[in-house]
Amino acid sequence: MKNCDQFRDMFEAYTLGALDAPERAALEAHLAISCPDCAKSIEEARWLVSQLHYLAPEATPSDMLKGRLMQSVREETRSAPRFVPPKSNIPFWMWAGVAALFLATIYSAWNAQRLTREIQRADQIAAAILQHRHELETQLEDAKREAAILVDPASVKIALASPAPQAPPLEAIWHSKLGIVVSGQKVPAPAGDRVLQLWLIPKTPGRKPIPSLTLRPDADGKFVLLVSNPPELMAATKALAITEEPPGGSPAPTTPPLWVGGVS
Ligand SMILES: [Zn+2]
Repeated sequence: MKNCDQFRDMFEAYTLGALDAPERAALEAHLAISCPDCAKSIEEARWLVSQLHYLAPEATPSDMLKGRLMQSVREETRSAPRFVPPKSNIPFWMWAGVAALFLATIYSAWNAQRLTREIQRADQIAAAILQHRHELETQLEDAKREAAILVDPASVKIALASPAPQAPPLEAIWHSKLGIVVSGQKVPAPAGDRVLQLWLIPKTPGRKPIPSLTLRPDADGKFVLLVSNPPELMAATKALAITEEPPGGSPAPTTPPLWVGGVS
């Protein structure tokens, strides 16, 4: 007859060698009829007890518990020659309490790890959302400014012509305060990572071209470039030019202009 229930609370104590002799004998007799459930529980209890050392280094036995343990050992030594079954002095409820503490310690360590991981994941998601929001805001600001430049009656249209016959003409919309929108279609992409770079050519003779933004047309050869410049720079600009430059652009043009257009 299997009556596992009566052993249910004894596994940890058994693993720790803390059962009374009759209790131990009863449990071992039960295990001898090969009860896989209880054998499994014993294995789990062994694992649980072995984990305490790693998971709860601060959980040192109290002086009272140490005293009890020492007393128990001494009594066993003393009583051994008389072949009287040694009686553990540690009450079962104490071992049950210790086992419960093991479980609570393991659970809270595991739970703390899990919560830490979840917090990290939430932080990452929040950072990505904020980053995305910032990008959208920037795009929205750019789109608003582009729209304002395109619809403002004060804007001026500038045609950028190319000396190369195969290069399509580009268009720049110029607003003296809001900036410049340069756009193109069917523009051949520069080789490799090279880029197209916009230059502001100063009105003052002898002044060097002022480097502006770089771009690469998309797969269809389209691009829209928004340049926000301070009005005084806009007022000092005579012409726009576009050259092909290494990735990231150059401080001064390194190739002849592919497109040029005068600001009238
Ligand atoms: Zn059993």
